[in-house]
Amino acid sequence: GAYAKASQQRVDSVCPFCGVGCQMSYHVSNGRIEHVEGKAGPANEGRLCVKGRFGFDYAHSPERLTRPLIRRADAPKDPASVMHRDWRELFREATWDEALDAAATGLRRAMASTSARGRQGPVAGFGSAKGTNEEAYLFQKLIRSAFGTHNVDHCTRLCHASSVAALMEGLGSAVVTNPLRDVVHADVVLIIGANPAQNHPVGATWIKNAIQQRGMKLVLIDPRRTELARQAWKHLGFKSGTDVALLNALLHTIIFEGLANTAYIEQHTLDFARLKAHVADFSPEAMAPVCGIDATTLREVARAYATAGSAMILWGMGVSQHTHGTDNARCLIALSLITGQIGRPGTGLHPLRGQNNVQGASDAGLIPMVLPDYHRVSEPAARAKAERLWGVPAGTLGSEPGLTVVEIVNAAYDGQIRAMLIQGENPAMSDPDAHHAREALARLDHLVVQDIFLTETACLADVVLPATAWPEKTGSVTNTDRCVQLGRKAVPAPGEARADAWITEQLARRLGLGWAYDVAPDGTASVDADHGIGAVFEEMRALMPSIAGLSWARLQREGAVTYPVDNESDPGHPVVFTDHFPTPTGRATLVPSALTPPAETPDADYPLVLITGRQLEHWHTGSMTRRSQVLDAVEPGPVVSLHPETAARLGLVAGEVAQVRSRRGSVALAVRFDAGMPRDTAFIPFAYAEAAANLLTNPALDPVGKIAELKYCAVDVRPMKAN
Ligand code: SF4
Repeated sequence: GAYAKASQQRVDSVCPFCGVGCQMSYHVSNGRIEHVEGKAGPANEGRLCVKGRFGFDYAHSPERLTRPLIRRADAPKDPASVMHRDWRELFREATWDEALDAAATGLRRAMASTSARGRQGPVAGFGSAKGTNEEAYLFQKLIRSAFGTHNVDHCTRLCHASSVAALMEGLGSAVVTNPLRDVVHADVVLIIGANPAQNHPVGATWIKNAIQQRGMKLVLIDPRRTELARQAWKHLGFKSGTDVALLNALLHTIIFEGLANTAYIEQHTLDFARLKAHVADFSPEAMAPVCGIDATTLREVARAYATAGSAMILWGMGVSQHTHGTDNARCLIALSLITGQIGRPGTGLHPLRGQNNVQGASDAGLIPMVLPDYHRVSEPAARAKAERLWGVPAGTLGSEPGLTVVEIVNAAYDGQIRAMLIQGENPAMSDPDAHHAREALARLDHLVVQDIFLTETACLADVVLPATAWPEKTGSVTNTDRCVQLGRKAVPAPGEARADAWITEQLARRLGLGWAYDVAPDGTASVDADHGIGAVFEEMRALMPSIAGLSWARLQREGAVTYPVDNESDPGHPVVFTDHFPTPTGRATLVPSALTPPAETPDADYPLVLITGRQLEHWHTGSMTRRSQVLDAVEPGPVVSLHPETAARLGLVAGEVAQVRSRRGSVALAVRFDAGMPRDTAFIPFAYAEAAANLLTNPALDPVGKIAELKYCAVDVRPMKAN
C-alpha cells in the first residue's frame, strides 16, 4: 500500500560502458534501479564517471523491445529510412518459438542456397563487445560449428584490430602489459591518439593524481588539444595522419643519441639493426616539417621517455583507426622495447580498450583469424581441440581465416553473404561509409538481430529477438587490464526479453547442434558450474590456458581476477612479459614502419580533415546513453567542433546549423567552438543517428589489421543556409 516501505536491495556488478571496468552497486527497489554507487574494484576504488553513475535508466526505457518481432511482408527494407522507426510499421509480434524457428529457417535456407563454405560461405555473424564473455564464446561457437565458417567478428575490428596485429607480430600476444592504474607508478606517461578524460574517465583520474601527487610527466600526443593537455608536461599537437613521422623521430633520437637500452635489446629483442637502419633517415629535424612538431620538442620528449625510471605508453583509436594503424602501433612497441620500458610496474604498453568487454570478446574468439585464446585457425592442433570439445565432426573448422567486419559488409553488398546473425552490434551506425553498410544489410536475404532496442540495424532485420540489458543478467566480463569480473543480475527483464546466451543456445538447438547447457532464459546463473552460464565458463576455461586457474566458483568468490592464471592458487598477473615474450624464441621483434599518407587527403572540394570519436556523456552508437535521461539532457544533440577561427573563416556561428559533406554523404548539425581543435580539422561524435558521422567516413582499410580509417577523411563544412 501507500505506506509500505519499498524493499531496497543492493547488487554488486560492473559498469556496462567503457573498458576501465569500474565496479559498482545497483540500488534496486521494486525491480527498478534507483541509483548506482561506486564500489572498491581494482580499477576504480569506488570512483565512477558520469556514464557509470547516471547511465542506468536505459534499461527501464519504454522503448525496450519486449516481444520477438517478425518482419511484415509489406514492409520493404529501406536503407535510407532506418531512424526512429516505430516497430509496428515494420514488424508483427511473434512467439519465441515462431521467431526462433523463423530465424533458424532463414539461416538454413541461406546455407542450402550454395555449396560454398569457409570464407566464401553464405553466412556471417557479428557478435558483441557489450555482452558477457560466455555470450561471446557461445556466439562464435555457433557461427563456426553450425555454418563451417570463421566469418565471425565484432567491433574490435573498428577499434584495436591494427594494435592487435602489431602486438601479435612483435610480442606474440595482444594483451596490455600493465594495468591502466600503473600510471601511478610511472615517471613519464606518453598518451597518443586517446582522450581518456572523455573515453576512460576514471582512468584519467589516476593520471591526474599521478601528475599532482608524484610529479609524473605527461606527454599528450594528439592533433586536438584535449582536456588532459592542461595538466600535461608537453602537448604535441601534430598534424593528423603523420604519426609514423613523429614516432620514428623519437626512435631516431633515442638510438642515435645513445639512449637505447642495449642490454635489454640484446637479451630480449630481434632485428634491432634493421630498425636502426630504417630510422636513420627520420631525424627530428627532417620530420619536424612533416609532423608539425619542432625538433627540439621531439628530442626532449624522446630523452624524457628513454631516461625515465619507468615510462608507460597508452594509446587509443587515434593510433589504430588509420590505414597505417598497424605501422603506428609498431612504432610504439619499438619505443618501449629499445628503451626496456616494459615488464616492470609503471612501464609497458597499454592499448586502451574501449568497450566494457572488447578484451573478453576477443579472448573468447569473436575474431575471424583465431579461435578462443588467440589460437590461429591455421593451427591443426587448435582446430582439433576445439572440434573435440565442441562435439562437432573433425574437419568442421577450416584452416582459412574468415572475413572481417568491413569485408563481411562488402560481401553482403556483393551478394556473397546471404544471411547474417547480429548480436548487440549496430553496423548501420558504426561501420564506415554507413550508406553502403545500410544498403549491404538491406540486400541480405535474411538478417536476424538480437538487441535491447530497435536499433538502426534492427530496422533492416527479418527477425528481431529482444535481449536482456546488462543489469538483467549474470556473466563474466574482462576489462582493459585483463581483469575478469562478475556482472550480476540486478533487475528482471521487461516483457519477454531473454538473455543473449539463452537465445544463442535455442538457435543452436534448432540448427542441429544439440547443446545442453540449459542456459536460464531470465539471465540468472547459479553458482554451480554444471549447467547454464557456469558450464559455459568452465568449457571456455578448458579451451583457454589464460584462464585455466580461474574456475566459475573462484570467480563467484573473488569477483575480480587478472589473467594469466595458471592454477587456482595463482593470484593472477597484472604485469606480464617480465622476463620473456610468448614467442618461439622468447624474444620480441622490432618492426620498422614506413611513412604512408592517409587514404584520402583534403583538396579544393573537401578542404578539411574530419576526425570522429566519442564524447564523455555518450556511448558509441548512442542506443543506451541517448535513452538515459541525465546523459541525454547534458548532450542532447549532434555537434561539429571547429576552431573559432576556422568557423569564422567559413562564415559559421556557434549554435547554428552547418552542413558537413564528404565524398560519401552529408549531415547537418550544430556548430560548436573548440579552441583546442586544429585549424584544418572538424570533429564529430558518432553517437547521433540523426547526423551519423559514419555517413561521411572512409572505408579504406589498413592492409594488415583490416581496420577502417575512421580518424581521417576529407570534408567540406559550410553554413546550412548557403545551400
Ligand atoms: Fe563506467 Fe568507464 Fe565511467 Fe568507469 S570510467 S564508470 S567503467 S564508463
